Amino acid sequence: MAEHESLEFGKADFVLLDNVSMEEFMANLKLRFEKGRIYTYIGEVVVSVNPYRAMNIYGRDTVEQYKGRELYERPPHLFAIADAAYKAMKRRNKDTCIVISGESGAGKTEASKYIMQYIAAITNPNQRAEVERVKNMLLKSNCVLEAFGNAKTNRNDNSSRFGKYMDINFDFKGDPIGGHISNYLLEKVKMRRREEPPMKWRVAIRCIMKAKSCFTAEHLLKMSSYCADNSLSTSCINDGADFKAVADAMKVIGFTGDEIQTVYKILAAILHLGNLTFGVDGDVTLIENTKLVSVLRELLSTKEENVEKALLYRTVATGRDVIEKQHTEQEASYGRDALAKAMYERLFCWIVGRINDIIEVKNYDARVHGKNTVIGVLDIYGFEIFQNNSFEQFCINYCNEKLQQLFIQLVLKQEQEEYQREGIPWKHIDYFNNQIIVDLVEQQHKGIFSVLDEACMNVGKVTDEVFLQGLNGKLAKHAHYTSRKLSPTDKNLEFDRDFRIRHYAGDVVYSVVGFIDKNKDTLFQDFKRLLYNSSNTVLKAMWPEGKLSITEVTKRPLTAATLFKNSMISLVENLACKEPYYVRCIKPNDVKSPLLFEIERCRHQVEYLGLLENVRVRRAGFAYRQTYPRFLQRYKMISEFTWPNHDLPSDREAVKKLMQGCGFDHDAAYGKTKVFIRTPRTLFSLEEQRAEM
Ligand code: ATP
Ligand code: MG
Repeated sequence: MAEHESLEFGKADFVLLDNVSMEEFMANLKLRFEKGRIYTYIGEVVVSVNPYRAMNIYGRDTVEQYKGRELYERPPHLFAIADAAYKAMKRRNKDTCIVISGESGAGKTEASKYIMQYIAAITNPNQRAEVERVKNMLLKSNCVLEAFGNAKTNRNDNSSRFGKYMDINFDFKGDPIGGHISNYLLEKVKMRRREEPPMKWRVAIRCIMKAKSCFTAEHLLKMSSYCADNSLSTSCINDGADFKAVADAMKVIGFTGDEIQTVYKILAAILHLGNLTFGVDGDVTLIENTKLVSVLRELLSTKEENVEKALLYRTVATGRDVIEKQHTEQEASYGRDALAKAMYERLFCWIVGRINDIIEVKNYDARVHGKNTVIGVLDIYGFEIFQNNSFEQFCINYCNEKLQQLFIQLVLKQEQEEYQREGIPWKHIDYFNNQIIVDLVEQQHKGIFSVLDEACMNVGKVTDEVFLQGLNGKLAKHAHYTSRKLSPTDKNLEFDRDFRIRHYAGDVVYSVVGFIDKNKDTLFQDFKRLLYNSSNTVLKAMWPEGKLSITEVTKRPLTAATLFKNSMISLVENLACKEPYYVRCIKPNDVKSPLLFEIERCRHQVEYLGLLENVRVRRAGFAYRQTYPRFLQRYKMISEFTWPNHDLPSDREAVKKLMQGCGFDHDAAYGKTKVFIRTPRTLFSLEEQRAEM
């Protein structure tokens, strides 16, 4: 018996569970994890549990086993999904996408890399140099993005602090010819002094150390004191190899020498900003460590007095007059942090943009080469529910609502299409449609994002509380929204700070503290002008809006919420026209142990990912489907009509006869090319009978 059909390792597909209950689901997941079987299907969805150990299942031999095979022929694997997506693209000319979700540390990024590796391994059999070059660049781009966009967090040593969607373009031969990357919601809020910054500083610092030509000995000394402050000095030392990989990758991708130098300089400037402190003397706010100002001037290729001025003053237009207003110490600190965050974000987006310039498909003529098809890979955070949930969790959870909505539409649509294609009557499936929650967040004028933007537009003192009042006023009656009443025991609170949303995955309480601030573009125009006026052309190009003087700045920049909403809407539109495949990642424990399957911890994730619902939807139609020849191949020995060969006019007739003979006819439907079986029980009976022969 093939391994994936043996019950010793549990059921290879959750659709085959006897009862769809949480208990059975979890028992199967646990059993498989303990037996080292980290992948399980729900139909065409792969559920993956992070093994937290190196698995010998990604090598060349495994690639060969999965290449060109059908999903059920081999044990569940990421490669099978990657192959299915690839086949659909190549054979049926379909654009496809692979959506990978799960919480931090669940294994999304690793999965996306294995998928890319698989695609790289099965393409370009003729070793065309141009295709090899493209493949190399696509793989290398991961390395660069990780260096600048990943950070060590307490949940994951190599946590992606951004959502990533990557399109890989293929030519008519099915070979990669380019790609495009979109990044979403880079987490930059943690960019504060003395906190662990949101990127691999170890690598960043290493980058800076290596780029000695731009630094004086004094700078390097400062850099090492920064390392000591952040207890990162030990890890710095071991990261030479990391640094080399990143530096090489940047070169291979095609960053120019000037660009690479500027990247290092910006990183250094961000690090130094983190050490800058302010003080007061009478009414005057001053910079305490003025030496840093000249360091910044040098790194940013600007004038010393401009740096100082931008840090201590802001230009404001009052009527026709333009005046310079001094910051308070608090405002200056706030401005410094905003600058560090904005520089980091711009740098990251600029890097993504540069990679795109280089990997983008150019000069592809569809009339000559046929349609250029795409496989998209989405690596994006799953539902987040923490002790304290803020604006970031709100955005992430909204993103998951959007993806769930898409999943409902696409998976149901896919089923429906298959039934139609096969000529089988469609049966209506009941499921919770979360569109109502998507609307609650994104609807024009009424949704939470609109209320937030409105609050941010108010002149005068806008506070988080005002925003919350607005929400409560508008949404009190919404079935998925609850305003939280002040707890009578908490005397310190003068206002309610929380609101609660009933998400499809469960209830989440959000604290409104910081919503307003995080939503507004809070970078003073003076900083934008400072960087735009840099004599470093690479840096200058990152800050085009710095061109405007204060009196010319009339339009408010779009808010973070609006930008995020727009990017989600376009992401979903992009995914919706592709044939989707899903990978759902689960983190088995919080201690990175390969042995521990914490059942409660996993159960929550199964809930948030809506997996049980997924099994139900899948089973409400037909749990199992198989082409007639393959079905016969497997079960022909259980019927006298089909063993060893049948003399019926078609395989379809033969399968029908077999099913009638076994008394399973009532549970089956016969499509044009496939037999459909409604309940898994029938399949088990078939398996049992087969085993008895
Ligand atoms: P985040 O949302 O924080 O970016 P993530 O879901 O992308 O998290 P990964 O970085 O992919 O998580 O995985 C976390 C760690 O788990 C990896 O660094 C690796 O040590 C381990 N891991 C994940 N998947 C596998 C796998 N298939 N085989 C071996 N180890 C794995
Ligand atoms: Mg990741």
